[in-house]
Formats: sequence, structure tokens, C-alpha cells
Amino acid sequence: MTKKKFFFFTNDVETTSIRNHCLSDKTGEKVLKEGMPILLDLYNKYNVKSTFFFTGYIAEKFPEIVKMILSEEHEVGCHGYTHFADSAFDVLSYKQQVDHLKKSKDILEQISGQEVISFRAPALRVNKNTALALAETGFKIDSSVAPQRGDIFFSFGALKKLNWINASRKCYFARKNNLSRKGDSKILEVPINSYLIPYIGTFMRISPIITKILRRLVDFETKLSNHIPVFIIHPNEFIEEDLDLTKFSKRAKNVISYLIADKLRYKLKLRNLGIDAISLFEDQIKFFYNRNYKFITLKEFYNIMVINGGEKNETNGS
Ligand SMILES: [Zn+2]
Repeated sequence: MTKKKFFFFTNDVETTSIRNHCLSDKTGEKVLKEGMPILLDLYNKYNVKSTFFFTGYIAEKFPEIVKMILSEEHEVGCHGYTHFADSAFDVLSYKQQVDHLKKSKDILEQISGQEVISFRAPALRVNKNTALALAETGFKIDSSVAPQRGDIFFSFGALKKLNWINASRKCYFARKNNLSRKGDSKILEVPINSYLIPYIGTFMRISPIITKILRRLVDFETKLSNHIPVFIIHPNEFIEEDLDLTKFSKRAKNVISYLIADKLRYKLKLRNLGIDAISLFEDQIKFFYNRNYKFITLKEFYNIMVINGGEKNETNGS
């Protein structure tokens, strides 16, 4: 029997305008009308079943954005309620995390009619309370840990992300007070791909050439060690937006972090944004499609591995 190679394409759906460095309903509308249809067409073409992490906010504002994925057997996951930096999960108290999760889960379940069990934290920011808050609100899967990712100091919440340095690269049940460590909680952690440099949409746009090397590494690691790749893409990477100077806001608190975390990051994040990102992303899907990977949702994987106890000799799950 040939061994099945799984692959998770995951999507974070939010109102973030990458060009204007802010959250905007106008962007949300473009994500609904332009970004999502492009993404769904690509997935349809290559028979990809995929997990979409929606913020509760975008779902509440544009319920159609959730409904449009349902007929294709994709999974509805939760990306918190809002993407505002002051509501990141590493700065919220336990109670606030529970409130945000409950609110967002309720909105998404009401619109979709699906039980929502998968979570990804906005900006991948979590803290010691997040695993407990997830368990408390009925979540079963988290995908917010990016082991061995080297660009953490370009991102917000960097200190807590130091936990990623020696986190496991394979799926594991997390510790009750730390999603980056194995333990006895009921939360299954599905780590995001990285080889110091992350294999994700943002980096795919920054350097398509290095990304070609990364995906070969991903394929190699999967064959070698039963790894399951997790790729992150955002439908707002496919939309074209005008620069709106009235909306441009500086987020960093001091000059040094402004120069590194805001200015440089902003410049890099604009590369290949919009229409150019579409063919780059299709190229990633094609690479794994041609190598007979099976593209499934996190929930489907959970059902195979945890509920049914795995498919012996058939899967690359751990
Ligand atoms: Zn996000």
C-alpha cells in the first residue's frame, strides 16, 4: 500500500489591508469579492480541501465570506474575534481570551452550521493561558506555533515566540500552560512549516526563488519523517488596493522597532502583492499536487488520527 502524504493549506481571513497597514472594512469587502473567489477557484482546480481561519469580525460583517466555502467541504476555523494588536492573545487575560473565543466561535457556528474546533491566533500570538482557554471553549486543534522560525524579531510578541526555538515539528498534544510544548492537554497542536525562514504566503512573495528551495525541503522532510506541511496564505494577498495615506499608521513604540519591525517589514510585505501572488501560489499547489499529496482540513485529520485512531501504514501522521 502506498503511503499517503498529507498537506494542510490553511487560510487566515481577516480585514487587514497589507498595503495600508491597518484593519479596514473596505479591505474586508475586497477579500469577499476578489480574494476569496480566486482562492476557491484554485482549490477547486487542484481538489484542495482546506481550513479557513476567520476572524469573528469579518464573519459578522460579511457572513457570505463564511458561507461561500461550505459547498466545497472546506473547514471553518477561528482566527480570534479581531486582529487589533491590543487584542492579541498574548496580551489578553484568561477570561478575555475565553470571551473572544466564545464570541467568535458562536458567530462562525451560527453562520456555518458546523462545529468549529480549529484555531489560529491572530499574528500567532499566544500565551500560557491560551491552551486552557481553547479547551474551555470547546476547541480541539491549534495551529499557532511555528517551530524554528527565525524571523520572530521582525514580528510582534517576539519574546513569547522564543518558545518556538525547540518546539516539535510534528503534530502533538500540547501542555496545558504552553502550546509550544508536548503535554497532557486535549489540544492538538499542528505546527506551521519553517526552516528558519517560514514556508508561507508572505515569504513566497518576498522571495519566490528561496521559496522554491524551501518547498523541496518540505517535500524531503515529509518523505523522511512523516512530517505534515502547513502552509499559510491570506486571501488579502491577492487583492489590489490603492495607497490610502490617511490610514497609514505607525505601530511600533520606539524608533528602532519602528525602523525594523514597521518600515522594513512593510516594504518586504508589499512585494508581489495582488495579481502576482496568484500564479506564485498556484505554483506551490501544483508542486505538491504533482507529487501526489492529499490536501485535507485540520478537522478531517483530527477525525482520522484522534477519533478513529489513525490509518495504520497509510498516513504520514504522528
Ligand atoms: Zn491573521
